[in-house]
Amino acid sequence: MKKLKALVTALISAGCVLTGTPAKAELSPEAVANGVYEGIQHIHGYQATPKLVWNVRHGQRGGCGAVRGSHYCGRNHTVYIAQQDIRMAYQHGDAALAYIIAHEYAHAMQAAHSFMPRTTASAELQADCLAGVYLRSIPNLTLDQRDVQEIMTFAYRVGDYAQWSRNHHGTPAQRVKAVALGLQSSPKGKGLAACQIN
Ligand SMILES: [Zn+2]
Repeated sequence: MKKLKALVTALISAGCVLTGTPAKAELSPEAVANGVYEGIQHIHGYQATPKLVWNVRHGQRGGCGAVRGSHYCGRNHTVYIAQQDIRMAYQHGDAALAYIIAHEYAHAMQAAHSFMPRTTASAELQADCLAGVYLRSIPNLTLDQRDVQEIMTFAYRVGDYAQWSRNHHGTPAQRVKAVALGLQSSPKGKGLAACQIN
């Protein structure tokens, strides 16, 4: 966790957050979902917007079968956000939920714009990076120091070490690094191109 702390400190000193602002009140899950979804649609010019199915119960039927967790389903171009993930995100804070939604939206854009990397781990790390870019680029959304910590600690938590598995999403360190790369990219800079992964 020491490395993680150093990374967060580096992000803060890179001007990623407004320093000196008082701790803000946490937004409700619905406010986060609406704000993030609207913001990313805006970034993409309201093109190829995926449908959002929100607060899905475990085992509920989705377009790609029973829902076991938040995911993007290409068959019906729909983002599913699972109830248990909303709960887990709020153990970190509202920004962690914003990260989940942005990550799944990124998968929809990888599919819609045909830049999905070949392996699962690459696709996942690219989605993490894109989520970081989105959260930095949404107009009217400012991430404070605490938000960045929420995102980083959550990204660390959802990393895995199942390198042999088809479902490997990247190690905790890789996921933190990927989302940090996106968060550090300037909104007016390379933007989504900062996340080019082959
Ligand atoms: Zn993913």
